[in-house]
Amino acid sequence: MVKFLSFIFFIFIIICLTLSIVIFIVYRCLKWHIPKNSLLDKYILLTMTSLKPDFLSANEKYAETFKDGDLLAPPSKKIAVLSCMDARISINDILGLKLGDAHVIRNAGGIATDDAIRSLIISHELLGTEEFIVINHTDCGMLKFKDEELQKKISEKFNINASSLKFYCFPNLEENVREQIKKIKLSPFFPNVPIHGYVYNVKTGKLNNVV
Ligand SMILES: [Zn+2]
Repeated sequence: MVKFLSFIFFIFIIICLTLSIVIFIVYRCLKWHIPKNSLLDKYILLTMTSLKPDFLSANEKYAETFKDGDLLAPPSKKIAVLSCMDARISINDILGLKLGDAHVIRNAGGIATDDAIRSLIISHELLGTEEFIVINHTDCGMLKFKDEELQKKISEKFNINASSLKFYCFPNLEENVREQIKKIKLSPFFPNVPIHGYVYNVKTGKLNNVV
């Protein structure tokens, strides 16, 4: 009898696992074809709670042991970093920083766009940062296409004229770092702020000093 019940339980577990896998595969396949925020999309998200993104459960765990609620807004190391948004880069890890130590401003290519400069002004004027660091990295996606190519692709895909969209792609990493530092220095807002420039090697984890 015990053997029979064990067998039934085993079969039950196998069926459950198989069903979960099938539902997961169907969900992942359908997901790309269901219009976002459509009724079907909402229904699937509502009914398949076990497939909600892992980050929510990760956040619950994070919040359980969170002890940094008393940190002040001004960065304690008085540093602001402008970096590429590449997923292989963790600025805090690279520079040995902790939560609350620095501002990190990120965009594709670590470009000193008007918006990045806006953030640097706020960082410097209102939150007391006194030193800037610009970081680019090896194998950057911005080295691999030209603005005109992406403008053309977007224009065709969305049937619009995207020729005025600037993506700031660049052919040389070190030159790009120098260019961004030059842009920041040419703005009138940071006359006495030291700015350092580095290229981060995604294969070795090392920073190479540029400026
Ligand atoms: Zn990049």
